[in-house]
Amino acid sequence: MRLYVACLASYNNGVLHGRWIDASSDVDEMQEEIAAMLRESRFPNVSVPCPHCEGEGMPDGSTCHVCAGAGRVASAEEWAIHDSEGLPRCFGEYPGLEKIAAFVELAEEFDHLDADDVATIVDHFGGLEFAETEMRDHFAGIYDSFRSYADEIADEALAALDPESIAVRYFDYESYARDLKHDMTIVEISTGLALFWP
Ligand SMILES: [Zn+2]
Repeated sequence: MRLYVACLASYNNGVLHGRWIDASSDVDEMQEEIAAMLRESRFPNVSVPCPHCEGEGMPDGSTCHVCAGAGRVASAEEWAIHDSEGLPRCFGEYPGLEKIAAFVELAEEFDHLDADDVATIVDHFGGLEFAETEMRDHFAGIYDSFRSYADEIADEALAALDPESIAVRYFDYESYARDLKHDMTIVEISTGLALFWP
């Protein structure tokens, strides 16, 4: 999972300036990478504390070689996500780093799924918060077909009944599967069907 963060001041001046950064569950880590990219912009419009001496001057009293003792350096300010890999499409250009961090956490929590598949599920539910609830509370699992899931559920229920009873002997698996399918959410992912209870 990674994202391409672009400097908007450069972009508005017809210059492509940006970098790929790893999506991380740590917002500060991503923020630092973006800040470094913005300081390298050819179109600075703000000043920020010097990253080398942090505006405090050098501890040994020498002059900071990065800011020449000024304590601040030039930087561009605005940025946007212009490309990404493994992130939900519904995030768009300005999802905010907290949202990306929350998505990475969700993908780590469900690490038996590909991150791409987690992104597909988030897109299906149209947003991270709803998808989080669905995945944590309503996730039935991954199945090759809906019928194999329905048969499994039916067999579990029927196991409690007398195997010689009419209800069990003439149980209609097909119509049971059809009814169940009505109530559930089905998301196609790379390894099969991800199923969610209502
Ligand atoms: Zn400095």
